[in-house]
Amino acid sequence: MRSPPRAEAFPAHTPAASQVFITVLSHGPLTRSDIGGRAGLSAAAVTKAVRPLMEAGYLVEDEDARPSLGRPANPVRVDGGRALFIGVKITGDEIIAVLTDLCCRIRQARHLPLTARQPGAVLARAAELVHELLTEADGFGVPVHGLGVAVSGDVDRAAGVVRYSPFLEWRDVRLSELMEMTTGLPVTVDNDVRALTVAEQWFGAGVGLSDFALVTVGAGVGCGLVVHGRVVSGAHGVAGEIGHMVIDPAGPPCHCGNRGCVEAIAADRAIVAAVREATGVPVADATEAVALAHRGDRGAREVYTRAGEAIGRAIGTVANLFGPERVIISGEGLAAYDLFAEQIRDAFAASAFGTAARCDLQTRPLPFDEWARGAAATAIQSFIRAQTRH
Ligand SMILES: [Zn+2]
Repeated sequence: MRSPPRAEAFPAHTPAASQVFITVLSHGPLTRSDIGGRAGLSAAAVTKAVRPLMEAGYLVEDEDARPSLGRPANPVRVDGGRALFIGVKITGDEIIAVLTDLCCRIRQARHLPLTARQPGAVLARAAELVHELLTEADGFGVPVHGLGVAVSGDVDRAAGVVRYSPFLEWRDVRLSELMEMTTGLPVTVDNDVRALTVAEQWFGAGVGLSDFALVTVGAGVGCGLVVHGRVVSGAHGVAGEIGHMVIDPAGPPCHCGNRGCVEAIAADRAIVAAVREATGVPVADATEAVALAHRGDRGAREVYTRAGEAIGRAIGTVANLFGPERVIISGEGLAAYDLFAEQIRDAFAASAFGTAARCDLQTRPLPFDEWARGAAATAIQSFIRAQTRH
């Protein structure tokens, strides 16, 4: 394994200690007995884990509650300002970077358009943004403990390699090594939807849920899965690729080589192409396609109907496969949500088997800053778990 260039050791040396910290991070402030209840740990185990985290300033205790009791009953919370992190999301035409605190609250955000997609050019621009945020971080007087980078496609987090990213046309880019060299920070590289899933699990609509999915609709159609409290990466680093679930074998060709994938019907590029074909109007992008449908153009509306059916069937399959309590639907494609919400729900209900249909479908707008925040969440995750002996 690569050793990160500069990392302060986080005082959680056992899985139980990381679990205690993550429980407080997601649910805090909590009393020690609440932490034990939620994490399934004994009072002694909680006390043992909390002590070094408090000594190092990562956890703090609120003083005023019930001071007369002999044993510590005061709520404990994470001191968000104790450490900073940077998250970077790379899309096909923009880089978004955020500086967050340890509670993943965004302190600063920066955007930079991408004019070239070659790894060297993209990395130079990403490094530029990271250095700007490192300068901002100096003003807080707290060190930046890690950098997370989120990229769409097949990403091997453990190796720090982007194996294949269709929107960037990258293959086998050793992203974490390259970013570590230019920034001097420990770097975590992950698939963008998985990174957003980590943020939703710890800080968003997935808090407290053992099984949920995040489905994103936009430039691509992605899906992050949390099963038994763990974000699923799969044995080979690819999991939840609902975008390439075949809905119509005779449908339009997909960039993956198959036909009629969800992405070939419901991703932005597919929708734009289908709207042009159906209406003869040369819409330039998804925004124009949505506008045309909103003006009531029948051909454009039918394209959204088909897209909604494809997404709904894909979500139904996700529900059938692992029975999530909730599916969060997000992504830039939500701008069209009113155009296909009904079809998504109907196709979901028709394809979900039995009680799998009880799954709660929740829409949640998460702009690109939130995706960059997801990248920061993976850096926080790496930092918390770096010292853990499993
Ligand atoms: Zn495909």
